[in-house]
Amino acid sequence: MTAPLDLNIPPSTSIVNISIIDTGATFKGLPASALVEPNIPGHEWLGGPCLAFLIQHPTKDRSLLFDLAMKKDWENWPKKFLEFFLGTGATTVVPTDVRTVLNKHGVDTMKIEGVIWSHTHFDHVGDVSTLEKGTKIIVGPGTKKAVFPGYPTNPAAQFNESDVAGHEVDELNFENSSLKIGGLAAIDYFGDGSLYLLDAPGHCVGHMCALARVTSNPDSFILMGGDAVHHGGELRPHHWHPLPDSILPNPFNVTSPAPCPGDIFHKLLLGGKDAPFYEPSRKSWSYHTDVPTMLETIKSSKKLMPMTMSLSSPHMMRGFKRQSISFPRQQTLLWRKVGFRRRGGRGWPTLPKQLVKTIIFPGRFSETSGRLLRKRNRVLENGGHGG
Ligand SMILES: [Zn+2]
Repeated sequence: MTAPLDLNIPPSTSIVNISIIDTGATFKGLPASALVEPNIPGHEWLGGPCLAFLIQHPTKDRSLLFDLAMKKDWENWPKKFLEFFLGTGATTVVPTDVRTVLNKHGVDTMKIEGVIWSHTHFDHVGDVSTLEKGTKIIVGPGTKKAVFPGYPTNPAAQFNESDVAGHEVDELNFENSSLKIGGLAAIDYFGDGSLYLLDAPGHCVGHMCALARVTSNPDSFILMGGDAVHHGGELRPHHWHPLPDSILPNPFNVTSPAPCPGDIFHKLLLGGKDAPFYEPSRKSWSYHTDVPTMLETIKSSKKLMPMTMSLSSPHMMRGFKRQSISFPRQQTLLWRKVGFRRRGGRGWPTLPKQLVKTIIFPGRFSETSGRLLRKRNRVLENGGHGG
């Protein structure tokens, strides 16, 4: 039996409450090659939800947001970025925004002291101008220099200068912290062991994750991973979760008592039964800034995942019943009743349906990509708004 990992998480009895905020924001038709490799024929396109999280400290009366998903008026993204995004064949729908969801559920937004940006990509930054002026933006190392003050002063930014104007920007310095959790430099945000921000570089300058202690005695944690990975196949199989000889629940039919034989996945393995299906894409057009560093971050994510109910990438959550796990329900409900931990944490996850179907019906999903491209063209003809 594999020995338990020592992740170096300091003991504490303090916790935070986490709620998923699902605005319904979804992107579709992103080329898989922009995020992962190798190319798997029939699995050339990715899509998924964009989520945000409300973090509430129960005794300090302090709140934070982790990410803001996509801004509702996404057709007003920085022009240069919007053209790039649509040019990849992708499209998106954004039914509402985080502020609207918070208002609907009576959350006092005056108490939200900051929004933690896992990183500065379009599907995480939202529109900070919808929040109170006193809400600061908390970013990882190097972010201010790389992208602030935003577009158009910085043409590379994926957010508008006008969306962040007037908000204090707090760039964290992990060199001031000697704490490392799972190999990643960590900051104890509230100073009581309830929430750690983790320096998780590679995908984007300043990329961070957050590790929240959501119960104590016994401890349980939620890892909010931003874009540390983009697909479950970057984390599995691995040393602690090798590809099993049989998989239950059966990913082709979860109600079937018969397991799925593991060997049908052998042709997808990159390096044996304990190496993941995917690595981050090294293509020149990929979304990643520094793939070797990202691979080091993924190594740590693999260590953290066995002990957390991982929301490692919101994009990995497609396939879950979104409304059944979203705000205002909190993590304990997720954990105990939805069985998230079993599927996303310790056990072998149900493999994304699309990947599974690809093995059985190679080529079939190229039809899907054609449909998305036609939809994208219709969006462009109608002035750029798909939702
Ligand atoms: Zn990203």
